[in-house]
Amino acid sequence: MKITEGAKSILKKLKSSGYEAYVVGGAVRNSLLGKPYADYDFTTSATPEEILGVFCDCNTFAPGIKHGTVCVEIDGEVYEITSFRSDGEYADSRHPSSVSFVRSLDEDLCRRDFTVNAMCFDGERIIDKLGGREDCRDKIIRAIGDPIRRFEEDALRILRALRFASKLSFKIEENTKRAIFARKRLLNNISAERIAAELSEILLGESCEEVLLEYAEIICEVIPELAPCIGFDQKNRYHTFDVYGHSVRAVGHTPPVLELRLAALLHDIGKPSTFRMGEDGQGHFYGHARVSGEIANSVLLRLKLRAAVREEVVRLIAFHDYPIVPPESPDDDKYLLRSLNKFGEKTLFRILDIKRADNLSKAPFTAARIAEIDALSDRLRALLDKKPCFDIRALAVNGRDMTSLGFKGREVGERLEMLLSAVIEGRVENDREKLIEYVKTT
Ligand code: ATP
Ligand code: MG
Repeated sequence: MKITEGAKSILKKLKSSGYEAYVVGGAVRNSLLGKPYADYDFTTSATPEEILGVFCDCNTFAPGIKHGTVCVEIDGEVYEITSFRSDGEYADSRHPSSVSFVRSLDEDLCRRDFTVNAMCFDGERIIDKLGGREDCRDKIIRAIGDPIRRFEEDALRILRALRFASKLSFKIEENTKRAIFARKRLLNNISAERIAAELSEILLGESCEEVLLEYAEIICEVIPELAPCIGFDQKNRYHTFDVYGHSVRAVGHTPPVLELRLAALLHDIGKPSTFRMGEDGQGHFYGHARVSGEIANSVLLRLKLRAAVREEVVRLIAFHDYPIVPPESPDDDKYLLRSLNKFGEKTLFRILDIKRADNLSKAPFTAARIAEIDALSDRLRALLDKKPCFDIRALAVNGRDMTSLGFKGREVGERLEMLLSAVIEGRVENDREKLIEYVKTT
């Protein structure tokens, strides 16, 4: 296994001071899988105080010293070194009520979550005491020891199992899987922040669609608002899947960007509560985009997701069925410019991404919509290449110009808005002289 010079020097320093030291966890796993790894976790027989002693000539800090973790800076990189540990009893499926530092590697490896995460590297060879290498080869996530007990100790491991299944495209071993379902209720003991962090990782994984389908019940444990979507028959000829199945397939059709994946997962969450059977014998969901946006907002508030992410997700959901160009004049660029003004470039492309994913997850005969969305994206790109003006800030005149023309207070903004509309509609060029002339005569 290849490790950086800094990582080598950490192993060397600890060993030459008489301690055992290893790289452990994700880096070892990913090196075996041929996947990239950038952050190293170290495990050592030295206690936290002893680690601080060994690295007394380096920058060190230890906010997690109670749990045995010391951070050491080498060549501008920060490395986390943790003492061999065995966790005491867990009182609340969250935090061990005590951790004890131990001198044996075996005990430290046994407190880790999954076999594939419990291999270590001593600088020369990979040490695998729990069958991690075999499980890597067979693409299996397997809890170490009794899975029920391990999830009772720390229920976050339930979501970690889904995270690794999604990121690595592994299957969860049968006993581990049964324990996940049997102990899913314990997820209620886990803090919102930790749930949000794992959920985000699950959503960004390559196999998230498979994981979200197979572990729907677990996802609904952390987002109960999704439960009514499972098996909800849309009774609509455009749809071949139930609301949850459709949403999860939409997730699979978005690029791995958190805002897009969350928006795809939650974009129809308001469908069960807005369902009406129409006289045409079809299910309809009037206003579902707005309702879905509202439900998504409360879900993401509860999960304490960053406000900027939450707001963007809600915007994408609320406008996922917004007509960017009206059907009666689909070729008029002024509608594209208005949408650019309303959403900004980044969000507008994301709305198109959601629309594409949404349509790719409907009945196959709706494929024509996808070609339309692709054509719209191409047109939007071509239009943006011409650096058009779609924002007040890009107008060739500003508020001061309006003031010198004698406009006051609210009039200033109103005049600028009027000019922007005129530019977007092609009634006047975005040219200073022409705009001033225009505003004087209208
Ligand atoms: P990634 O590549 O996503 O960082 P990782 O395996 O390095 O994956 P980390 O969360 O960085 O995951 O944790 C480092 C190691 O610490 C894990 O490989 C595992 O051995 C151990 N570990 C982390 N969290 C837990 C937990 N909740 N229970 C038991 N062991 C854990
Ligand atoms: Mg890691």
